[in-house]
Amino acid sequence: MAADSLEALRHEIAACRICRDTPLRGIEHRLPHEPRPVAVISTKARVLIAGQAPGLKVHESGLPFNDASGDRLREWLQVDREAFYDRDRFAIVPMGFCFPGYDIRGSDLPPRRECAPQWRQRVIAAMPQIELVLAIGQYAQAWHMGAERRDNMTETVRAWRAILFSNRSPAILPLPHPSWRNTGWIKRNPWFEQELLTTLRERIKMLVN
Ligand code: SF4
Repeated sequence: MAADSLEALRHEIAACRICRDTPLRGIEHRLPHEPRPVAVISTKARVLIAGQAPGLKVHESGLPFNDASGDRLREWLQVDREAFYDRDRFAIVPMGFCFPGYDIRGSDLPPRRECAPQWRQRVIAAMPQIELVLAIGQYAQAWHMGAERRDNMTETVRAWRAILFSNRSPAILPLPHPSWRNTGWIKRNPWFEQELLTTLRERIKMLVN
């Protein structure tokens, strides 16, 4: 994609107000705050981090993964903040670009349903150079993996070898969300740190320099 049309796409996304002005499920389900889309679209990065949706801290700073989840993700990747926020190294495109707000229990709501149908195909098409997609959590896994996704997130991540080493392009590696909420999951599934992360770090070393 030419630089000017990529810039135009970035501006279109930055100006998006769909979830505020014309939400899919009616005005009573509109975004409870002003939209602030957070995504890093790159024509050079070879790795795409496909996450879920920004949390409040990211919404306030405008910087993706600028929170404890981001610290854990950088530790998984073994990269520092400088490398992580270098758009020539990593593209960062969540399933919903705006912080969706909280549910009644105070947990982040799922990514807005409006976002992926509106933007994702165009954004992915603008980045044909991507070689590896890190599909973080069930929403990114559903969109990027389709029928290759297993019955649940654990089974999908457990099948990481078959998924990563299939012949698809770009390659896909499913990951759990790096949130503290998944600390118990990580402890219960030691193969994740011992095997999957070892391979992930090798790939990152190869693709990000
Ligand atoms: S979440 Fe996506 S579709 Fe909704 S307002 Fe933000 S950018 Fe637009």
